[in-house]
Amino acid sequence: MSQKFLNQIAVVTGGCRGIGKSIAIKFAKEGAFVFALDYQIPDENEVFCENAEIAEKIRCVQADVTKFESIEARFNEIVKEKGRIDILVNNAGITRDNLLIRMSETEWDSVLNTNLKGAFVCTKAIARIMMGQRYGRIINIGSVVGSMGNAGQSNYSASKAGLIGFTKSTARELASRNILINLVAPGYVRTPMTDQLSDEQKKIFLNNIPLKRIAEPEDIANVVAFLASEDSSYMTGQVLHVNGGLYL
Ligand code: NDP
Repeated sequence: MSQKFLNQIAVVTGGCRGIGKSIAIKFAKEGAFVFALDYQIPDENEVFCENAEIAEKIRCVQADVTKFESIEARFNEIVKEKGRIDILVNNAGITRDNLLIRMSETEWDSVLNTNLKGAFVCTKAIARIMMGQRYGRIINIGSVVGSMGNAGQSNYSASKAGLIGFTKSTARELASRNILINLVAPGYVRTPMTDQLSDEQKKIFLNNIPLKRIAEPEDIANVVAFLASEDSSYMTGQVLHVNGGLYL
């Protein structure tokens, strides 16, 4: 295994399960120390127990991405201990699906708050740190439905489409400080989030995926790692679709 992120410090929001967990493991395997920020903090010895060596390089930290002051405090604690933060992955996200006519304001607000405001909060809190370092890699996790839409997900797709504009604007603002900001837009990935879908919904997705398989979280983590590495040092403000051809 290459050590592309040797001695780097990474923060992954929603990093204790699903896609975020896979990203955290990928970074740790390649040499980084990872802070996995999550709303509900699980027992990290259980979460990352597959490999003791990896578990030593990942720490679960309780945090709510919608609260600026608490996120800023967490980032300051990390910098105090480790000296810097090289990589931020804005991965925390939720769904509250409903058809438009049935969607409550609460369902709309909570999804926009976590998925879009959460990325704003974490990016704003880390911008000053990365500007001081004159180095940073930020990867936002969007979704295929931010580009193609999906019935029953007007709140979720709006939040993910908003992330594209946010990625491009912040990429322009921070490029001069060597802070590169890109977005990975997954298709249908096997995680606790998609476990909630009905068999019928899963079948419809699968029929529309040219590669005829659901993505594993590692398929997404590999592309995130590429965007966090020196291999992509001339890329910023880009959207990378990882969806097996579902959206072309
Ligand atoms: P999961 O539901 O498995 O994990 C989401 C994580 O985000 C959880 O650990 C959750 O923490 C955390 N989280 C939610 N709200 C907050 C908050 N306010 N503060 C901190 N952490 C929070 O989702 P996935 O792994 O499937 O999804 C990860 C990302 O990928 C999301 O942004 C999602 O929209 C996106 N995505 C997923 C796809 C898929 O098919 N799975 C497809 C396209 C995009 P807790 O468990 O404590 O609530």
